[in-house]
Amino acid sequence: MKRYIYADNAATTKLDTVAFEAMKPFLLHEYGNPSQLYSFSRIPKRAIREARETIASCIGALPEEIFFTSSGTESDNWAIKGTAFLNSQRRATITTAFEHYAILHSCKAIEQQGYPIVYMNPTSDGYITGEILKSYTRDKPFLVSVMYANNEIGTVQPIEELCTVAHKSGALFHTDAVQAIGHMPINVHNLDVDMLSASAHKFNGPKGIGFIYIKEGTKIPSYIDGGAQESKRRAGTENVAGIVGMAVALKQNCDHLQENNRHIEALEFELISRLNAAGVGYIRNGGENRLPGFISLSFIDMDGEAILHRMDLSGICVSTGSACNSVSTEISHVLKAIRLTDKYAKGTVRISLGKENSQDDVETISQVIRKIVCT
Ligand code: PLP
Repeated sequence: MKRYIYADNAATTKLDTVAFEAMKPFLLHEYGNPSQLYSFSRIPKRAIREARETIASCIGALPEEIFFTSSGTESDNWAIKGTAFLNSQRRATITTAFEHYAILHSCKAIEQQGYPIVYMNPTSDGYITGEILKSYTRDKPFLVSVMYANNEIGTVQPIEELCTVAHKSGALFHTDAVQAIGHMPINVHNLDVDMLSASAHKFNGPKGIGFIYIKEGTKIPSYIDGGAQESKRRAGTENVAGIVGMAVALKQNCDHLQENNRHIEALEFELISRLNAAGVGYIRNGGENRLPGFISLSFIDMDGEAILHRMDLSGICVSTGSACNSVSTEISHVLKAIRLTDKYAKGTVRISLGKENSQDDVETISQVIRKIVCT
């Protein structure tokens, strides 16, 4: 198999081998339906209970506040559309202009049903400050949803402060933490968020499984109707292997968070230093408070897609924007929201380094970028 340098960890990550081993029995032998009463179902049922406890302990939640879903997208849909059911007075939902489409399109769906949505613009370095949110909360919103870390530029939002502002105005607070969970310490109890979305494949877990944290007492209705799974709030026979893999992957990442991040930050520093030493001209998008390894670079008068294809020819995987809109040549809504000029925005690539990357990877990436941009 051709060896790729995979530098697109914001799109997805490699499955952790410990997580894979933990999943295997549930794909092969322990296939009992966890809802059944016979003893063959005891092991999968217990595995789900333990996975829920593990995930809860990684984020400072109670096990009964964790609900398994199929993805970050489903968790986001549940948070936005589920909350709309409760919003009989049709008070505003406040979100940001640079959310992932899982939030933006969910908001659009409820907007079409008459629920007002307000989109906040971030600062030009990619932040929603408490002051910005305060200026929008005078009209007593019902829900505020702000992503934990942006998936194109990696900026980390001041979630605790935003949550306090939202609660003071009487609103619920949701955060899409799909990029952040497993990559930085997160404690939902300290943050005091009401809902939080996560997706396993962003933290070295399997694809097609995620969860939503819903604070005890939050009256968000069930999202998928059917059987009694997930305390009757999210029906459907559980993806046992996925749930187990997600819990193990999250625990692995949380247990090794500091060493992983030290490694990734050193690679990031090395890459930027090499580009600077070679005299490569670029704008780096987003302020200093970013997720480790997130490097969004814009090159003047260049075509990001052409850069991506030339890097691909050298065996390097990067992204032009978020993976979900990489077929589109339009300037990403995130870069528009931070008001990057078209001359730079069109020539943007996102490099997202992960724990699997090495010094050699970074050396090759910098050499290839220099060749593409400077010749
Ligand atoms: N939210 C953010 C911030 C994301 O980056 C993504 C995926 O890129 C999602 C939601 C969707 O997650 P999933 O791929 O699990 O549906």
